[in-house]
Amino acid sequence: MTGLEPPPLRDDCFALPAGVDWTPVDSALSLLKSRLAPVANTATLPLGDAHGRVLAENVAAKRANPPLPNSAVDGYGFAHDSLTGGIQRLALVEGRAAAGNSFRDRVPAGHAVRILTGASLPEGVDTVVLQEDVTPGHGEIAFRSGIRKSANTRKAGEDVACGETILKSGRIVMPADLALAAATGHGEINVYEQLRVAIMSTGDELEEPGGNLSSDRIFDANRPMLSGLVSRSGYMPIDMGRVPDDRNLLRRRLDEAAGKAHAIITSGGASAGDEDHVSALLNDEGAMTQWRIAIKPGRPLALGLWKGIPVFGLPGNPVAALVCTLIFARPALGLLAGQNWFEPQGYMLPAGFAKSSKRGRREFLRARVRNGHVEAFKSEGSGRISGLSWAEGLAELPDEAFEVHPGMMVRYIPFANFL
Ligand code: AMP
Ligand code: MG
Repeated sequence: MTGLEPPPLRDDCFALPAGVDWTPVDSALSLLKSRLAPVANTATLPLGDAHGRVLAENVAAKRANPPLPNSAVDGYGFAHDSLTGGIQRLALVEGRAAAGNSFRDRVPAGHAVRILTGASLPEGVDTVVLQEDVTPGHGEIAFRSGIRKSANTRKAGEDVACGETILKSGRIVMPADLALAAATGHGEINVYEQLRVAIMSTGDELEEPGGNLSSDRIFDANRPMLSGLVSRSGYMPIDMGRVPDDRNLLRRRLDEAAGKAHAIITSGGASAGDEDHVSALLNDEGAMTQWRIAIKPGRPLALGLWKGIPVFGLPGNPVAALVCTLIFARPALGLLAGQNWFEPQGYMLPAGFAKSSKRGRREFLRARVRNGHVEAFKSEGSGRISGLSWAEGLAELPDEAFEVHPGMMVRYIPFANFL
């Protein structure tokens, strides 16, 4: 079943306030947060197909968990009122209570019934003694006194009450969510369709990885990386290949991508130079804003719409492309996919390096943690792809001027927390 189509994004969804020279990272993020909305359709899927999807509506329990009071252990059930002081001896009734095979009769006072884990408590039973604490005899059991009322039992609804909201819309469906939905009576849930993200690289210098290398060319490193980031985020990458620095070819490729995807990521050509065709084309023929964000690494981002489809024009530099994807494109794609606003969890950890950062821009260092300390990659050169691969996360230095000394606390965000 397919749900309603969401409305298109507004042309000005990427507009920035006038007169601001370098937009601070937090302002840029709150603009994205306030402007973007889900663009994917919704569908009702069987639980088995819903893992990793984004929930499109709140889910309420159709039944309580557990639905009936039951035994938490293998043992013997009886009414607590039957107990007296000292050694307890209770006569055993015929039959037993097992999970899925209830004991149908009432257990009379002064009697006990053999009961197994998960079995509903028969009428007349409110307490269970663990089998290890019991000496079974001929038709009776003996155990020590001191057991409290309702010991070793689970109350109906003690986990989830019927009608309670168990999962909220905007959440990525995790394996345990499927267990919870199943236990509370759901065979299918309403989720967003998987976000399709078209990825293309631009630049005359780019060669297909593994292809023939001529000396003035480089291999396209961004496409495989961006594709990996998109799939790790739970979206479907659509490979749109490489496009030379040619406006007509780029226009055609963007048209093609807009016909296939919910969002487009380009890398390269996003700045304002002679060969920056992505920004030029989006500017002339789409709705575009050059986002000059106070961030290092990262040159301007070109954010715009092409045929109503949002385009994230990333800088070509692989380091900047990765950082800008994690910091901006990732949470923005999340909103388009129907997810709640995404804030990567970071941790304050002692630095194992020294560095000073300039005032007025947020700085992200390629980093990893060893022996409880944050290490930063030895070179900040933004063309150093080896540093991206060396890193396991980013260290985030604040917008204000900042001196890091070894041992000082810095914020570290593992890559996994972005994805
Ligand atoms: P641009 O943003 O197009 O000015 O590119 C900035 C730098 O990144 C240039 O050195 C480009 O050669 C390089 N670059 C652009 N796209 C890629 C790519 N897909 N893979 C590797 N390097 C790239
Ligand atoms: Mg270029």
